[in-house]
Amino acid sequence: MALPERVQSIYQDVIKRNPGEAEFHQAVKEVLECLGPVLVKYPEFAEAKVIERICEPERQTIFRVPWQDDRGQVQINRGFRVQFNSALGPYKGGLRFHPSVYLGIIKFLGFEQIFKNSLTGLPIGGAKGGSDFDPKGKSDNEVMRFCQSFMIELWRIIGEHTDVPAGDIGVGAREIGFLFGQYKRLTSKFEAGVLTGKGLVYGGSQVRTEATGYGCTYFVEEMLKAKGNGFMGKKAVVSGSGNVAIYTLEKIHQLGGKVVAMSDSHGVVVDEDGFNLETVKQLKEVDRRRIKDYCDIHKQAKYIDGGNIWDVPCDVAMPSATQNEISGNDARTLVKNGCIAVGEGANMPTTPDGVQVFLAAGVLFGPGKAANAGGVATSALEMQQNAGRDAWGFEETDAKLHQIMKNVYQHCSDAAEEFGSPGNLVVGANIGGFIKVARAMIAHGLV
Ligand code: NDP
Repeated sequence: MALPERVQSIYQDVIKRNPGEAEFHQAVKEVLECLGPVLVKYPEFAEAKVIERICEPERQTIFRVPWQDDRGQVQINRGFRVQFNSALGPYKGGLRFHPSVYLGIIKFLGFEQIFKNSLTGLPIGGAKGGSDFDPKGKSDNEVMRFCQSFMIELWRIIGEHTDVPAGDIGVGAREIGFLFGQYKRLTSKFEAGVLTGKGLVYGGSQVRTEATGYGCTYFVEEMLKAKGNGFMGKKAVVSGSGNVAIYTLEKIHQLGGKVVAMSDSHGVVVDEDGFNLETVKQLKEVDRRRIKDYCDIHKQAKYIDGGNIWDVPCDVAMPSATQNEISGNDARTLVKNGCIAVGEGANMPTTPDGVQVFLAAGVLFGPGKAANAGGVATSALEMQQNAGRDAWGFEETDAKLHQIMKNVYQHCSDAAEEFGSPGNLVVGANIGGFIKVARAMIAHGLV
């Protein structure tokens, strides 16, 4: 899609000011492409340079994380926290521990988080953080020493009213526990609301573990329902086999669909009988093994080393691993094989080329900033419970998540309609998320 003339120079400026950060450029471009009609309707946004301001993080922190491995060797990693926008509430967004992490990845994620958090309707600003540390293959003690060293820097800039991190790739319940323990020790405070994704025994929320996968499935269900369709009897492919993928599998099966392929960064497993949820949970959440080991237990399943999961025919595709995992060619293959809906559990998993292929083919397309908003929405529910020293039950929390995802879908669908692109949820999510933040920024004056 071409950029509207009035945002061209903003985009060029972003490239110039943030050299070498390809993922950040891509995320900004995708939002700017949609904002032309918004500036026509609200010229005050252009006058106040809201877009220019939104593209510049409010604060960026980069720090050294030294730690010792089990052999006594010194290791050095780099830590990041990009506090992008606090117009709607305290900064909120996950921490990613993965060797590919650099400033450009954290900025793309933090930028997307602003609009995603706005779409949830809850009072949270946008941020993201992480490190190039790889938890894979590390002992629990090594992970703990790393998390403690990471928190020795991070604690200064976070707090329940300031900035509330959570998990993302490589950061699950174990890492959040170690981070929380160190924050508590450093501050001498039991400040439950400083991190979300906590364990249930010390202030965590029911459904937070399940929230992103469940929420993404609820969102796709809304897209299908609008066409008089549903998950019943549908074949789905879910990439990855981490937190988001596992709970997408669980919810799709609950709604009568069948997940026939999952993956990790090494390869793809195909199980035409439908994946066994308990086996996947045991392998990935308890034993921390590879997805290929699934085939040792379920002999009918096939492992394709280095395979491409998007070659597996399906009705619904749920990319739930990482950014740019569906190329234009992958999208064409999916369309050719009869895929009717895509729900982005991961952040920006479809390349711009791929998005255009889906939209042109009339595939129902749920962009990540809307479809995977259930994770952060439930984090905000965790903050609410912490603030009220309360703990809600599973059904109650799940019902709130479900309603939030219905609202996010409706909000995107209405915004797309209002701004002349009915059915285009990419446009709907970007515009719907942007307007609320822009209004708040204008209300706050030039800050
Ligand atoms: P996990 O670390 O639990 O799982 C990630 C999964 O994706 C693993 O199976 C991993 O395989 C695979 N993966 C990661 N990087 C790559 C890569 N470069 N190539 C192929 N496979 C890869 O992370 P989550 O499930 O939490 O996150 C998945 C996605 O969902 C991310 O994009 C994240 O930003 C997004 N997301 C997560 C939310 C959450 O609440 N957790 C909320 C909203 C979005 P391997 O083990 O081989 O690396």
